[in-house]
Amino acid sequence: MTALVLDGKSAAGAAKATLTQRIAQLALAPNLVVVQVAGDPAADRYVRAIGRICGDVGAGYRLVSLPADVAQAQLNQTVRELSDDDAVHGIIIQMPLPTGLDTEAVVAQLDPRKDIDGIHPENAGRLANGQPRFVPATPAGGMALLRHYGIAVAGKQAVVVGRSAVVGRPMAWLLLQADATVTIAHSRSRDLAAIVRTADIVVAAVGRAELIRGEMVKPGAVVIDFGISVQPDGTLVGDVAYADVAAHAEAITPVPGGTGPMTNVQLLENLLLAHSLGRN
Ligand code: NAP
Repeated sequence: MTALVLDGKSAAGAAKATLTQRIAQLALAPNLVVVQVAGDPAADRYVRAIGRICGDVGAGYRLVSLPADVAQAQLNQTVRELSDDDAVHGIIIQMPLPTGLDTEAVVAQLDPRKDIDGIHPENAGRLANGQPRFVPATPAGGMALLRHYGIAVAGKQAVVVGRSAVVGRPMAWLLLQADATVTIAHSRSRDLAAIVRTADIVVAAVGRAELIRGEMVKPGAVVIDFGISVQPDGTLVGDVAYADVAAHAEAITPVPGGTGPMTNVQLLENLLLAHSLGRN
């Protein structure tokens, strides 16, 4: 069997073109503000990429940079003021915050109607309750990729490996909402191979290079890989041993070029949703 390659780059390209048209039709472009506390070069790259994609589709973008030693009160106040500013539609607080800052206290200042990362407890709770509003962009992108390729989810057995608040857990809720039967595996799960082998849809959200091997995957399964690990030679590898698994999967996301490109597109979808909420 030769697996269908779920090409996130091309799916995201098509989605970006549609987003550009939708934004061009708005009287007022949606505005995104990223709040970043200095100190993480990897985050700098991510934040620049968000700025670029906003520019590409015609959305407004502003970066609020705060020094690494910013006081909790100042960070809280910054987020509060942006939450109260009608000209700001979406807010991203770049995570993780430096040690010593209280993430929960900052997120409490965030207007849940501007929380396009879906990190506010109100949005996480709504998703868990089957009433999603802002869904974290990475798992939303994984679901969008399945839809793009017409892959049916209802009635399938899905195994999500990883239970973080931003990737694994929300992906499990989304699959459940799409009527899959969902198992969540994690670092304390016993016999991961046996659990993964039950899956028609395997989702890997771990961050361990090539943890999921060919013999762990049922022939004909669909495999979604969110994992990104940087190898010593600088190349990127997913959580799935790609060639090994692709030999008998029905469909698989490559790394890079699979789930990654869909993330920023979904972030923009969330920004447009925030923009529409702002008018109500
Ligand atoms: P995370 O917060 O570190 O969570 C990792 C999860 O994997 C945890 O739930 C952990 O279990 C579980 N785990 C660790 N070792 C395991 C093992 N040996 N067997 C089974 N489960 C294991 O990571 P994250 O933020 O969810 O990110 C996961 C991956 O996605 C990373 O590679 C990250 O770079 C990538 N990512 C991709 C995108 C994208 O756009 N594609 C976006 C964000 C993140 P416990 O809960 O028991 O500790």
